[in-house]
Amino acid sequence: MIISVASGKGGTGKTTIAVSLALSLENVQFIDCDVEEPNAHIFLKPAIKERKKAHVLVPEIDLAKCTFCGKCAQICVYNALAVLPPADNNKKGNILVFEQLCHSCGACTALCPENAIKEVNREIGAIEYGSSIQMDFIHGKLNIGEAMSPPLIRQVKQQINPEKTVIIDAPPGTSCPVIASIQESDYSILVTEPTPFGLNDLVLAVEVLRKLKIPFGVVINRADLGNDKTEKYCQKEKIPILMKVPFKKEIAQVYSKGEALVQAFPEYRKEFRGIFETIKNAKPG
Ligand code: SF4
Ligand code: SF4
Repeated sequence: MIISVASGKGGTGKTTIAVSLALSLENVQFIDCDVEEPNAHIFLKPAIKERKKAHVLVPEIDLAKCTFCGKCAQICVYNALAVLPPADNNKKGNILVFEQLCHSCGACTALCPENAIKEVNREIGAIEYGSSIQMDFIHGKLNIGEAMSPPLIRQVKQQINPEKTVIIDAPPGTSCPVIASIQESDYSILVTEPTPFGLNDLVLAVEVLRKLKIPFGVVINRADLGNDKTEKYCQKEKIPILMKVPFKKEIAQVYSKGEALVQAFPEYRKEFRGIFETIKNAKPG
């Protein structure tokens, strides 16, 4: 079973909830797909055993074969190629490849009439594998300055072990990296906080999950701050509230020390196991 933990907004305590759920269950594989800023390892402290570089394919042009016909640039919908034909017989032409814009679709390579393009690896980050006390752990790390995280997220997700209960820590927001992370989930937990910003972003996240037809429920973190509009919204939309975590100075202190909620407050384990039971019985969305 694959459970993703997401939040429309950053800073809601999504990773705390994902980590605490993982620590409350057996036979878990934890996958941190927040590849731009992975931080679950701070709480789970896994021993990293292996590191593999992650790549995407980008075109490399053989200018000796190229006739500067321009077809590759015409087909590229991402404007990742610019063909500069020779100005006169004495000057060489060139093709500029803007690698960061390339989506590795392969169209230019397939359509070049001179077979002047081959695909080569470009490193975008790394995938690290390890284990924590009671679970397998994998996270992706996108190289600094790299713009596109979905290719790395998809490569991280290729490591999913169907024999395990897989907990995916998704990036915050509702854009492409989130979709790449939560797709194929059996259930998604949306972590929010009861503030106007939290509710606004929760509504957007709910729309995404309904479109993807992934069943979901909500965890309200710092539940006694803010107002009751989030709860009322969930009631109106018939969205299950899986858990409410109160705002407590002690919880914030534990979090700031890099400790998981259930390690400092073991009484919460029962609640997280209860969430898992609810999830197992959830109907498809
Ligand atoms: S399609 Fe091939 S031959 Fe034409 S400009 Fe591009 S690389 Fe050169
Ligand atoms: S592989 Fe696709 S996205 Fe990349 S340069 Fe070629 S056509 Fe453009």
